[in-house]
Amino acid sequence: MQAFVRPSRARAPVAVSFEFFPPKSPDMEDQLWQSVARLAPLGPEFVSVTYGAGGSTRERTHATVARIARETDLKPAAHLTCVGATKDEVDEVVRRYGEAGVRHVVALRGDPPGGLDEPYRAHPQGYQRTEDLVAAIKRAGDFEVSVSAYPEGHPQSENLLKDVEALKRKVDAGADRAITQFFFDNDVYFRFLDMARAAGIAIPIVPGVVPVQNFRQTANFARKTGAGVPAWLARRFEGLDDDVATRRLVAAAVCAEQVIDLVDRGVGHIHFYTMNKADLVFAICHLIGLRAQAPGTAEAAA
Ligand code: FAD
Repeated sequence: MQAFVRPSRARAPVAVSFEFFPPKSPDMEDQLWQSVARLAPLGPEFVSVTYGAGGSTRERTHATVARIARETDLKPAAHLTCVGATKDEVDEVVRRYGEAGVRHVVALRGDPPGGLDEPYRAHPQGYQRTEDLVAAIKRAGDFEVSVSAYPEGHPQSENLLKDVEALKRKVDAGADRAITQFFFDNDVYFRFLDMARAAGIAIPIVPGVVPVQNFRQTANFARKTGAGVPAWLARRFEGLDDDVATRRLVAAAVCAEQVIDLVDRGVGHIHFYTMNKADLVFAICHLIGLRAQAPGTAEAAA
């Protein structure tokens, strides 16, 4: 019988990156910095901080990213959307990141203000397409630019081919790396990867993995983002809504299974949507061979 969670066969060290969101309250602020402190010794490639819908967290995202740059050895990446903003406003945000020593931006279009059921309309004085934003950031200075990718298709996309074409335009504008929307069926990631490579996209396409801290919340979020929630996943969390302890164990097993499979199939970098919670992510990183390093040690051991 095959073991449920088998040891990874991967030999090479796996790179990881962690995504956080800017905190809204002092309690959430504590939770964020505790999570950053717990995960930092694993030596992530970078840590990224999201930008609230419509730029609603502009100042909080900036403050969080700037503090990471100032107070830690981590390489921060700032998410930035162009929805609802003029080019001048967006350029100003990028300029301030440059001044704060931030050298990596995750460049996005953003959702329409009324949500994804509404067609997207660019600001008349704004960047019209995501690739225009990518090109502008590249022109603004020595920035690394990451962009999104949708292995199951963006909810506003006609078909998966359109998603590949959208990614290709962003790559042609200078994107250095794509980070995928989360998914639970690894085959959809590898299918998208094949399509992207066939379209001549050569940049790394880093799988985004979300540990299911709360199944109901994750399933709701997945519905909005176009990520499929397989029946087997729902079945694993069935009946556990009020059983936090078992849910956590199941979440760890499910995420471990997914990540180990990705690593065994050759993935060399995994991006974790941490939801500002470190424990589960730390455990999964441990499983794939990462070990906390003493301060000043550059590389995490395999
Ligand atoms: P794009 O990649 O430009 O386009 C999305 C899809 O729309 C394309 O894949 C394509 O299928 C379709 N499309 C676009 N243009 C065309 C066209 N001309 N013809 C046909 N189809 C087209 N949102 C936030 O508000 N803040 C964040 O911090 C944030 N971080 C994110 C991080 C990651 C890794 C991901 C995957 C998403 C993130 N988002 C964030 C969500 C994102 O802003 C939304 O999904 C938004 O609706 C699309 O932005 P995008 O840059 O992904 O769009």
